[in-house]
Amino acid sequence: MNHPNPLLQPEGRVLPTLEADGSRRWINPRLSTGKWFHRRRMFGFALIAFFVTLPFVQVNGKPIVLLDIIARQFTLFGYTFLPRDTFLLALLMVSWILGIFFFTAVFGRVWCGWACPQTVYMEFVYRPIERLFKGRAGVGGKARAELPAWRVPAMYAAYLVVSFLIANLFLSYFVGVERLMHWMTRSPLEHPTGFVVVAVVTAAMMFDFAFFREQTCVIACPYGRLQSVLLDRQSLVVQYDRARGEPRRGTPLPILSAEAVQPATATTTGDCVACDMCVQVCPTGIDIRDGVQLECIHCTQCMDACDAVMAKVRKPPGLVRYSSQAAAEGQPLRLIRPRVVIYAIIVTGLLSLLSYLIVTKPAVDMLVVRNQGLPFVINNDGRVLNTLRVQITNRTDQPQRYAVSLVGSAGVTLMEGLDHIDLPAQGAVQKPIHLLVDRSAFVAGKHAVTIRISGPGDVAAERTIQLFGPAR
Ligand code: SF4
Ligand code: SF4
Repeated sequence: MNHPNPLLQPEGRVLPTLEADGSRRWINPRLSTGKWFHRRRMFGFALIAFFVTLPFVQVNGKPIVLLDIIARQFTLFGYTFLPRDTFLLALLMVSWILGIFFFTAVFGRVWCGWACPQTVYMEFVYRPIERLFKGRAGVGGKARAELPAWRVPAMYAAYLVVSFLIANLFLSYFVGVERLMHWMTRSPLEHPTGFVVVAVVTAAMMFDFAFFREQTCVIACPYGRLQSVLLDRQSLVVQYDRARGEPRRGTPLPILSAEAVQPATATTTGDCVACDMCVQVCPTGIDIRDGVQLECIHCTQCMDACDAVMAKVRKPPGLVRYSSQAAAEGQPLRLIRPRVVIYAIIVTGLLSLLSYLIVTKPAVDMLVVRNQGLPFVINNDGRVLNTLRVQITNRTDQPQRYAVSLVGSAGVTLMEGLDHIDLPAQGAVQKPIHLLVDRSAFVAGKHAVTIRISGPGDVAAERTIQLFGPAR
């Protein structure tokens, strides 16, 4: 569709999902059910099953994954990250991001085509529902105007039910299955926040899967935008074998000389029969024969479609296949190369450090900080008062009792008895402590004191902090 104003008419294609006049070009891809589709569908169903069952799995009485934002505790595979674990979480995030870099450098956008929730739910949940109500595109599928009046509303109703279920599952990752079940049997007025979260997620999923669809991959996903820097010439990509396919059927032979003009009907010897099936099945509306493109999510549909065409014309499969740009130019496929090795070393190092820090984490954490305001006060009896705050964190999955004491600090008295500090599992508390110090204990206005937190058994943590007093 041309733009009404010729000055605004783009010279070439801007986006595969955009008409020249700026309106949306709706993509209604055909389905190709080849071997790659079956493999991806099996994998997608396994991922959906994983997503559905994970919130129900418990280890030692606690969920294996729980992202409790309210309590600021993230439990991942049995380990609970607390607000004080910023460094551990940062390590995890950096490892994850570099892991994506590594994976993309080796396998290209395999994540997008095989494991991204956007693709998995779109291709294996929402599109099957669409086909159920509207028929398969290009194979008996009907235009909207030809459908019985009830079909489209029924399809959206099915979308809504599925979106609502997924939204509830999504919420269970943040509040836990038990609390979610409890909420589901109560009035929304008793848990308005949870209700609003489910409503917003349901609406967002309806918008995404019923309307926005491939636009998420083509224009919104930051990972897709990063492909140009994450991929290199050796990365695995879905690729059209230009050397084998071109010149495609119907392409006039090149004119070699004025005398040797070919007849207009002359066709060529390339394997591509120009059937356009690879374009018709593409969920992002691109033509893989144009080369590697940012919009390609590596869904392998064009590979299946082309293999089916090749079978019909009795040619070997693989005209469109997993390959690399270097391999397409006749160079050997090299999955292992310096960039990949460096990523692997860094990720392994970071994950090893993270594992070490988690394994060696003490059962109790303590943090001692100085109180705001005056560093010290001199009492009427001449002794010096320092006020500190001690934060104790119970890192175990059981309630514990702790006591605060001083270690070998002659001349220092802990004013209050802090022998019974009860903390719930993974709980934390902050207590003020007042220390009275003999004036003679200070050297150059400082005196070091060691504070000890003792728990059950030999659980203990110690911190040494400088107390302040008069310089002389
Ligand atoms: S499906 Fe294969 S043969 Fe058909 S146009 Fe695409 S690349 Fe050519
Ligand atoms: S070009 Fe092929 S692999 Fe890429 S998105 Fe389109 S159909 Fe999927």
